[in-house]
Amino acid sequence: DAQNTEEARFRFFDPSMQAEVQQRAELEAGIRAGLERNEFTLWYQPQYDRYRTLLGLEALVRWHHPQKGLVSPAEFIPVAESTGLIIPLGEQLLEQACRQLVAWAEHPQLSQARVAVNISARQIHTPDFVERVSAILERTGAEPSRLELEVTESMLVQDVDNTIDKMRRLRRLGVRFSLDDFGTGYSSLIFLKQLPLDKLKIDQGFVFELLTDANDAAIVRAIVALGQNLELAVIAEGVETLEHCHTLEAMGCHEYQGYFFSKPLPAAELEQWLITSAPTPARP
Ligand code: C2E
Ligand code: MG
Ligand code: MG
Ligand code: MG
Repeated sequence: DAQNTEEARFRFFDPSMQAEVQQRAELEAGIRAGLERNEFTLWYQPQYDRYRTLLGLEALVRWHHPQKGLVSPAEFIPVAESTGLIIPLGEQLLEQACRQLVAWAEHPQLSQARVAVNISARQIHTPDFVERVSAILERTGAEPSRLELEVTESMLVQDVDNTIDKMRRLRRLGVRFSLDDFGTGYSSLIFLKQLPLDKLKIDQGFVFELLTDANDAAIVRAIVALGQNLELAVIAEGVETLEHCHTLEAMGCHEYQGYFFSKPLPAAELEQWLITSAPTPARP
């Protein structure tokens, strides 16, 4: 009716909304240009087991914007997703990660480490996702079993059978899958059981206050038990202190990622960090 039309008109001309629309449009143009100018790079954050053996590295995108400097993924990944630009961006990043794997193939500490790459919903739902990943593996010569793909529950509930089929096909090549931000989604355990996964990543939101919040502690214990029963590895993210490490270890969680070890670093800095500051393995 007339009043709603009037309302809609005012809402449409709401200056703060208009500013938001414009900001998104600028961001979209910026991402497009950034893709052409290779402004996106991956930083790497190490993952350790309880013996301080380096297991892998999570690849996290950073945008070196010509004016704004370093832009965090939280600011541009949502826009990249809604515009579909995440597809070319994700492809570029996956290729970078695979090239890095090849570059590290002879590295004394990194030759066995896996690289974990975050995959967006839009990416995994492209019809030729498996072919694209396979082509990148072939083009770069990266060892598929050293590539891990991080997916989230919310992206798997859509088009389940097809997605499971894609995951199976990639796993047959040796690629592994971990479920990121686990515990923040809403999927049932029956659904979880169906997924061809290798690892659960406990969301950092449950880890930060693990020592003082009994509910967080109960959730972490439950995730660890679930992982054991489903024969999945369990890694905690957001591990910031030695106490976090010890508490997680006592709960049966044996893999850790977080600022306690290192923040994400550019590849060259990570290599340097491994020489000067990395924890030394303490196998019993
Ligand atoms: P995520 O995949 O859950 O990554 C973990 C985030 O937690 C990273 O933030 C990491 O820097 C941060 N983090 C790690 N350890 C700690 C810690 O001990 N304490 C605290 N406070 N934070 C910690 P980042 O790099 O800003 O990435 C944020 C999110 O952006 C990622 O969450 C992921 O969802 C997305 N993202 C990052 N890189 C990519 C990418 O290449 N592709 C896609 N599709 N998404 C990405
Ligand atoms: Mg992740
Ligand atoms: Mg996460
Ligand atoms: Mg997260």
